Amino acid sequence: MNQLIEFRLDGVVCMGQKGQYIVDAASDNNIYIPTLCNIPGIKPRGACRICSVRVNGKLMTACTTPVSEGMDIESKSADIEDLRKAIIELLFTEGNHFCPACERSGNCELQALAYRYQMLVPRFKFQFSKRTVEASHPKLIKDHDRCILCKRCIRAIKDEKGRSIFAFGKRGHQVEINIDTKLSKNMTDEQALEAAEICPVGAILKKEQGFKDPIGQRKYDNEPIGSDIENLALQ
Ligand code: SF4
Repeated sequence: MNQLIEFRLDGVVCMGQKGQYIVDAASDNNIYIPTLCNIPGIKPRGACRICSVRVNGKLMTACTTPVSEGMDIESKSADIEDLRKAIIELLFTEGNHFCPACERSGNCELQALAYRYQMLVPRFKFQFSKRTVEASHPKLIKDHDRCILCKRCIRAIKDEKGRSIFAFGKRGHQVEINIDTKLSKNMTDEQALEAAEICPVGAILKKEQGFKDPIGQRKYDNEPIGSDIENLALQ
């Protein structure tokens, strides 16, 4: 039987299930903690650090840290919000993100977070990294310019034997996402679409499908990221 526990999040007394990750327990209490790499239902990795919170005085990732009885969590203090904004700015300056020309504009979680955090001019220098666009796969296009190395595709998209179809290749600052041609030989259209949708940005695109939903009518064009959770608290 699930054991209910009590914890505090930004001074609010909340209830959660013992062992539940902070990000999910917060969501159940209608409190949004932003993430980019997390996928509900799949083992978290804490790769992007956007969900950083302070737990009993220490910075931890909310997607990998379970709640426990009496835990005191800070998520909205000015320094934590600025840390998140800095990570978003870093991602924008490290890759090449040209939102107006991107198929994911309006459906992109990174872009939506940049709006949430009112990013204007990043505090870091743009690196204009030399990256490529690859279209050799029969069903998918990879735009390395936009990849934020969140590992969502690696963790979520598997073949019939449970082997990851995506993997990191190269090393250091050249690391990039690869598609295993053998394992992805039998990839269905549905799986290709799932891969494109699981990517939080526009780094994986399904071939033969572009701009299905017009710009202006996409998910985050209509509702800011996190508002689905936060609006529940207002009802
Ligand atoms: S391709 Fe997309 S899902 Fe995969 S690591 Fe890059 S950003 Fe994440």
